[in-house]
Amino acid sequence: MAKLTVNDLNVRGKRVLVRVDYNVPMEEKGGQMVINDDTRIRETLPTLELLIKQGAKIILAAHLGRPKGQREPSLSLRPVAAKLADLLGRPVAFVDDCIGEKVEKTVGVLQPGDVLLLENVRYYQEEEANDPAFAEKLARVADVYVNDAFGAAHRAHASTEGVAQIIARRGGKCAAGLLMERELKFLGGELENPARPFVVILGGAKVSDKINVIGRLLEKADTILIGGAMAYTFKLARGLKVGRSLVELDKVEMAKAALEKARAKGVQFLIPTDNTVATPVKTDKLNKKGKPIIELQNPRLNSQPNIPDTEEGVDIGTATIQTYGQVIAGAKTILWNGPMGIFEDPRFAQGTFAVAKAVVEATQKNSAKSIIGGGDSVKALNQAGLSHQVTFTSTGGGASLEFLEGRVLPGVAVLNDK
Ligand code: AMP
Repeated sequence: MAKLTVNDLNVRGKRVLVRVDYNVPMEEKGGQMVINDDTRIRETLPTLELLIKQGAKIILAAHLGRPKGQREPSLSLRPVAAKLADLLGRPVAFVDDCIGEKVEKTVGVLQPGDVLLLENVRYYQEEEANDPAFAEKLARVADVYVNDAFGAAHRAHASTEGVAQIIARRGGKCAAGLLMERELKFLGGELENPARPFVVILGGAKVSDKINVIGRLLEKADTILIGGAMAYTFKLARGLKVGRSLVELDKVEMAKAALEKARAKGVQFLIPTDNTVATPVKTDKLNKKGKPIIELQNPRLNSQPNIPDTEEGVDIGTATIQTYGQVIAGAKTILWNGPMGIFEDPRFAQGTFAVAKAVVEATQKNSAKSIIGGGDSVKALNQAGLSHQVTFTSTGGGASLEFLEGRVLPGVAVLNDK
């Protein structure tokens, strides 16, 4: 059932606790923490502007990094308050705590339309433990709860779940923010009955991360295209050689079962027929953990499905790029999650960028609905200069995958139904 959203609320003069995802990348520059990418902050603006217009008193709660219950100064949300004020064009108050007297006093003097950002909720261990007493303290300053942090909704933490339970028990409304609403629409509703052909592109490092998603999508997709290191475990399942490629030997049986399910369901399931390969060579240089750095040398195209013993698959090859491109060009719905190769290295980014380009072209020329399932595929789209040219880009990594697996996300389940 659809969830209640901020559009359905009457919040004039009410204290609205909004859980946002401000887990932004930061870096120390000249003794100060500087935000490297403010996308996550920008993405909450529609919800915040709506709440401001409706005259809510807005209290923002968020986490940053993994301080594990310690007041780690480099993980303070203070710089985010300044950035948000810039973006909103109005003051944003900040309290260096997320519960307690100081917070309660500040909330007490908020006027309709005012915005207050609380300090990192993960400065308290009780947040991740979903401690009821801590959730109660968070709930003390709110009449209404809004969750706009899809990326954190797969965790049952105090600020994503516990606090909503308490507010709901008191009769307060719990609703999805506009960003959360879009995530649920595109990753949920739109994929329930997709326009066909529905093409799913999956890549990335591990089969184990995505095997459940594959299982679920085999129920819906017409074609599944596999790339990334994941492809080599599928190659093993098909009896092919993978040389020194990254594989998960304990997942070969699962991969075989997925291939069998695809056959039984009539789903076209493609793995790379050629690859860019390179030779891994141990160097004298050590990485941060004191382990020898492995360099990938002599990259070349290996035009056959088997990979020689001394080499490692690092990207999909040109023939595969062409085949995948043709499939993508004919798609009406596309879901893409995970790069086709080690795209962080420009030598091995060609496959991922080609897929990104094909997805954008299908969106523009074939009116395909293209949904990018978060994480590294979003980074790849940005690097290829193609962001904002797809239908929808998810803000959740792990949350997107869990949602696509059909799992109930605790931070969503707790919101009121329409
Ligand atoms: P994931 O988080 O599972 O989407 O995986 C993304 C990571 O997979 C990226 O950092 C890629 O560098 C990595 N990756 C993709 N293809 C390969 C490959 N052939 N070998 C090793 N790592 C890969």
